[in-house]
Amino acid sequence: MLKCPKCYKELRREGSCYRCENGHSYDISKEGYVNLMLANMKHSREPGDSPESLRSREAFLNKGYYQPLAEELTSIINDYIKEGASFLDAGCGTGYYLDFIMKNIDKKISFFATDIAKKGVAMCAKKCREATCFVGNVFHLPFGEESLDGLMSIFCPYSGEEFSRIVRKGGIVIAVTPGSHHLIEMKEVVYDEPYLNEEKGYDLPDFECVRQTKVTYEMDLAENSDIATLWCMTPYYHTTSKENNERLLSLTSIRARADFLVSVYEKK
Ligand SMILES: [Zn+2]
Repeated sequence: MLKCPKCYKELRREGSCYRCENGHSYDISKEGYVNLMLANMKHSREPGDSPESLRSREAFLNKGYYQPLAEELTSIINDYIKEGASFLDAGCGTGYYLDFIMKNIDKKISFFATDIAKKGVAMCAKKCREATCFVGNVFHLPFGEESLDGLMSIFCPYSGEEFSRIVRKGGIVIAVTPGSHHLIEMKEVVYDEPYLNEEKGYDLPDFECVRQTKVTYEMDLAENSDIATLWCMTPYYHTTSKENNERLLSLTSIRARADFLVSVYEKK
């Protein structure tokens, strides 16, 4: 079901590689993923999150701080995705959410996962053995027209055009974006005038929003490393002065709100 990124012919698995009828072949790594990213599709040698930030993110997520979000995603997939369907995690990171979903869903679904960061895909492939994991770019996905029943995009760059091309009519896109009060208590430490996030789903002209829920709860962060990891996962970290970041990064505990907007779009 994957397509060759060079010629768009179907890729077939042959032993330890994927091959198309034109003889382009892609090795499967020891972790179980395949690299379908061509040199001209990436803008740096090692695109995406660095291995260090992926490792600390994984440690943070494994403590369950974002589990309520993983539970909501599982429930949406249960409601909207049928037995035997195909579903892509478009921006899988370390595979935390997909792993949770695959462990907690009792349907047979063909799961695919991709990310631009090779190390992230390797971590995802190790956890999600039954999923087809590949390094790729969400703006050029190796799938045929209308070949997927759904996909999810969690705090990720996205392409409405590409999603519309690969998702079939009646298929869905699940998008997670920050809610108005996401990490507001952390922002209060850092900024003199903390602002609320504008709640915004995705702009997907060929889709209709059929469900929108908020997942909101409080997290007790009791370790300095958890506070630092979480803050560094946000875009705020990079747009804030060192001095202001330091006010937060020196704390050893804080109660902070997680606030997510989860939107489900159906292809018209
Ligand atoms: Zn090919």
